[in-house]
Amino acid sequence: MMIKNKFNKEWRLIKSRHFDFFIRPTDRKIKMATLNKAERHYVKMNKLWGVSNRKKITYYLLADREEMIEVLGKNTSGFAKLDDCAVYSLYPFHPHEITHLVTNGGIKRRPVLALSEGVAVFYGWKNGWDGKSIEKWQNLFKRQNKIIRLKILLDKNSFKNNSEPVFYPQYAAFVKFFIKKFGLAKFKALHKVSLSTDSFNQTAEKIEKITGIKLSEIEQKYRQYWRIAN
Ligand SMILES: [Zn+2]
Repeated sequence: MMIKNKFNKEWRLIKSRHFDFFIRPTDRKIKMATLNKAERHYVKMNKLWGVSNRKKITYYLLADREEMIEVLGKNTSGFAKLDDCAVYSLYPFHPHEITHLVTNGGIKRRPVLALSEGVAVFYGWKNGWDGKSIEKWQNLFKRQNKIIRLKILLDKNSFKNNSEPVFYPQYAAFVKFFIKKFGLAKFKALHKVSLSTDSFNQTAEKIEKITGIKLSEIEQKYRQYWRIAN
């Protein structure tokens, strides 16, 4: 089906069970296998997060960053727009953004960056972040002595424009640590009450309330988890 003039462009619309894929008719193709991967990831995340009966995801597959800026006004490879239940992406399958929609979709807001991105990196791309598994990133940061303390990592103000390559894998490492140590139910509870505007102290308070453990002690466990001498 051809759709005209959405964002002043022509689109091919391909529907699957949970997605409406809007594809530029020019040179982008989408394979059945890709549709199935997106469906599988969506269903898996819904199950994991214990949510169902969501709206269909509107998925815009864009040609390049230029087109992304034109359509969305952001220079990014992907973005999950919570209010519209929409994904804008340069990739036909973008599990990171689908994960954002599922985990943040029900609450229609983002938790503090460390949790919001941590969960999307941890459950997103199968091969981790930027083609490397979280474990590989951890080993690299250990070698480079670049392990970020929780006081910095959980503070939204620490994140700068160029922080992504170091912060994103460590956000995922923290989420992985938290789920391993305290369980998915407690992580989901934390994710639910956390707000993107929370200060470090507010985040720390919420973590302490949910785990029943002082943040200083959690920091210690976190460092043990990375196997660094205190
Ligand atoms: Zn993200």
